[in-house]
Amino acid sequence: MEIFGRSRRRLAFAYALIMGIFLAVIIFVMHMAMNWSMFSEQAQELSDAANGVAEAQIFYLQNPSDAIDENRYYKSVNDRLFFYIFSEDKQLVRFERASFRIEQFVLDVIESGNIEEGEVEVFRHSNETGQLNTVMMTSKKIVTDNAMQTLYVGKDVTALYSGLQKATYAQIFLGFIALLIASAIGYFMAGRALVPLKEAYDKQKQFAADASHELRTPLAVVMASADLLLADPSIQNPFLRQVIEDLKSEVKKMTNLVSDLLMVARSDNNALKVKIQRLDLTEILKQVIRTMTPIAEKKNIRLTGENFRKAMINADEQRIKQLSIILVDNAIKYTPEGGAVLIRLEQVDNTRVTFSVIDNGIGIAPEDLDKVFERFYRVDKARSREMGGNGLGLSIAVEIVKMHDGKISVASQFGEGTKFTVELKANLKK
Ligand code: ADP
Repeated sequence: MEIFGRSRRRLAFAYALIMGIFLAVIIFVMHMAMNWSMFSEQAQELSDAANGVAEAQIFYLQNPSDAIDENRYYKSVNDRLFFYIFSEDKQLVRFERASFRIEQFVLDVIESGNIEEGEVEVFRHSNETGQLNTVMMTSKKIVTDNAMQTLYVGKDVTALYSGLQKATYAQIFLGFIALLIASAIGYFMAGRALVPLKEAYDKQKQFAADASHELRTPLAVVMASADLLLADPSIQNPFLRQVIEDLKSEVKKMTNLVSDLLMVARSDNNALKVKIQRLDLTEILKQVIRTMTPIAEKKNIRLTGENFRKAMINADEQRIKQLSIILVDNAIKYTPEGGAVLIRLEQVDNTRVTFSVIDNGIGIAPEDLDKVFERFYRVDKARSREMGGNGLGLSIAVEIVKMHDGKISVASQFGEGTKFTVELKANLKK
């Protein structure tokens, strides 16, 4: 059943959407947390190294006669760390070089003066080959009685950051797989959840089909009895005869309603038998005009056909007749006295045959246009009832069109008229 399939897909989609947002948030938070913990750990290390180097330099500045013990500096820096010490007049006085790959970049950063004293900052740069380098740097003033120098300490964290990036990509990939699995589970679960609903729905449809079927016999009996009474010569009282006539007309309306209901219920159960054969649509439309002309004439409405020519289709003759009668009947019902109804064969080609039923009646307001195909929907209930309508005609028309793999559409100008168009598959044989 279509509505269950649709609900199932909607439920599964909503679930997948929620899961997707949830996963995206988790991955984002995880990425930020990893970034933060890595940064703070590295920053700590960098500050420690800066303190170590500064201490060594201060010691050296205060004891210039001592031989320089390079270990004092090296103890503070491991192989990815580097430092540069500049004198007040911007002379490089001591350094542990950064690797060749990043040295120029590091010196540019120092030159730009973007490093705040005591702050640890991350700088990114991609070299000519497109490789992204990431360094973390901090600076520190070295102040002694007779010197004022600036120390820049940095660390090449390229590998760490690219590792983090790879980890994040891996998470996104896993998140995507998790989302696919979650969607599949969601789809499955939505299907399971709908099973009892579908069963209840099927039962209700079966009930409608059975009930309308069972109502037909007693109605036929009442009708036959009314006919019998009318034929009885002993009933001559005009009042009684009128009562019986009224009874008959109500029973007739009810019989129509019941047979419409049965048609709708059966189409729900896919229990409608169709007898598809090759036939000429124009012949059917001509018959419909013949059948409906007396009804149109009662309202002084002109019912005509236009553009009629051979139009072969594969269809169930009775159903197509029923469909055309529904449309023409509506056109007559909703067109005031003296109007006109036109059945026009629009298009006949190799693939499809299109015809429309056009009236110059009351029209349908735009907001009702979509709803007229719904079961029991009537724009103006009183008017429809007065005309013998029950709001099922167009939904039956839709079912018939569906059975034939065709299309039905409506266009209308409120107060001016309405045009229903039906498209059916053509029969290709010559
Ligand atoms: P009904 O038995 O009430 O005619 P239908 O399903 O056939 O039920 O039509 C639904 C509603 O659509 C009608 O009540 C009417 O308001 C509107 N409608 C259908 N055909 C026309 C038309 N040709 N012109 C104006 N309104 C129409």
